[in-house]
Amino acid sequence: MSQITAPRGTRDIVYPEVARWQMLEEKVRAFYSRFLYREIRTPMFERSELFQRGIGDATEVVQKEMYTFEDKAGRSLTLRPENTASVVRAAIEGNLFDVVFPLRFFYIGPMFRYDKPQKGRYRQFHQFGVEVFREDKPELDAEVIYAAYAFLQELHLRDISLEINSVGCEKCRPEYLETLKLAARKREADLCEDCRRKVDTNPLRIFDCKQPGCREASRGFPTITSHLCDDCTEHFIGLKAGLDAYDVNFTVNERMVRGLDYYTRTAFEITSGQLGAQNALLGGGRYNRLIRDLGGPDMSGIGFAAGMERLLLHLDSPPPREPRLCFLACQSAEQRSLAMRVARGLWESGFHAYVDYSAANLKKQFRRSDRMGAAYTLILGEEESARGAVTVKDMERQEQVRISQQELVQWLKQRDK
Ligand code: AMP
Repeated sequence: MSQITAPRGTRDIVYPEVARWQMLEEKVRAFYSRFLYREIRTPMFERSELFQRGIGDATEVVQKEMYTFEDKAGRSLTLRPENTASVVRAAIEGNLFDVVFPLRFFYIGPMFRYDKPQKGRYRQFHQFGVEVFREDKPELDAEVIYAAYAFLQELHLRDISLEINSVGCEKCRPEYLETLKLAARKREADLCEDCRRKVDTNPLRIFDCKQPGCREASRGFPTITSHLCDDCTEHFIGLKAGLDAYDVNFTVNERMVRGLDYYTRTAFEITSGQLGAQNALLGGGRYNRLIRDLGGPDMSGIGFAAGMERLLLHLDSPPPREPRLCFLACQSAEQRSLAMRVARGLWESGFHAYVDYSAANLKKQFRRSDRMGAAYTLILGEEESARGAVTVKDMERQEQVRISQQELVQWLKQRDK
C-alpha cells in the first residue's frame, strides 16, 4: 500500500527535538510571568470573518494564505493564521477588560498559513506572542520591545537587530496614503502585477514586496515619517526615549510597515543575521482600532509574535539531561510480577523506571538498557527472587551490588544525592 506522508509544509516534532520545544515553551512561561503576563489559549479555528475584519481583507495573509473551509453546517471557518485577532475576540467575548488586571496575555501555539514552504517557513508553524490592552503610553511600547529583546538575549541569540517605525494613525495615515498613491502611480510601469493592484487598494503593502522592481521603485516613495500627526510624532519620540532608557539598540526603518493592516503608530521587527532569507524572528506593533473594530471598547493594544521554529534553529542548547533511569530486567512470569512491584515503588517515589516485559535473555535486556541510557539495571532473577533481593548494576561505573528490595529506594536516593 502507498505510504501516507505528512501534508506539505508540516513537520513532526519527535524526541529528542521535542525536548528543545518543551524547554523553549517553559522559558516563555517563566520569562513572561516576570512581567505579569498570563497565558491565554484560544481555539485553533475561528469564524473566517474574524480574520477578514481583523487582519484586513486586502492583506496577503487574508487574500492568499488562509486555510478556510466550510463545516458541515455550511459555516465558513479558518485555521488561525495569527493569534492577535483571536485574543482580542476572546477578551471581548469573555469581557476580560473588567476582570483581568493588568490586561497582559501571552500565548504559545500553532498557526496556519498557505505559504511557500522552505527552510524556516512552514504551513503549520508555531508562534509565541504577547498582547497588552489598555496601556497606551509609549513607555509601555518600549517595555514590550525591551522584553522581547531581552528574551532573545536570555536565549543567547547572537547577531540580532531591532528595527522600529511609526506607521501613523487614522488621523494622519489617509493623507499620507494619497501622497503615496500619487508616487506609486508614477512608477506603475516598474511594479509587479500584484503591486499594481495594490496602488489603489493598499499602497503600503508595496513596501513589503520582495520583487527587485518594486523594491527599487519603493525606495523613492515618500515615507510616513514626515506625515505623522503631532500625537503620533510625540508617541514615536516617547518610544525612542523609552528604548534608550531600557538600553536597547535600534534603528529606525521608515519603510518597515509590517504585513497586517491593523497596526497604528509603533511597528517593530527583530531579525537575525544568521538565518538567510527567512530572517525575521519576531514582529509586532500597536493597534489602536482593532479592539473597537471587532466590537469591543475603544481601547488600544500592542503585541508581537515570534516564530518558534526560527528561534529553535538558533538555539544551541545542550541536549536535555536524561533522568536517571532504572531498567528492570527479569524473565519468568514470577520475576516479572516481582519487577512490577519494585517498579511501582520506584515510580511512586519519583524515580524513572522501565520494566522489560519481553522475557528476552538477560544479555539482550542489558543491551536494551544500555541503548536507553539507563543509569542502573536492576536484575530480578531467580536468586534475587528467592532472597527478596535485587542486583543493581551501575551502568556508568560498571559496578554491581546486591541489596534488599526494601532498601532499594533509600539506597538509590542516597546514591543520587
Ligand atoms: P507575522 O505574524 O507575519 O508578523 O510573523 C511573526 C513571526 O512569525 C515572523 O517573524 C516569523 O518568525 C514567524 N513566521 C511567520 N510566518 C511563518 C511561517 N510560514 N513559517 C515559520 N515561521 C513563520
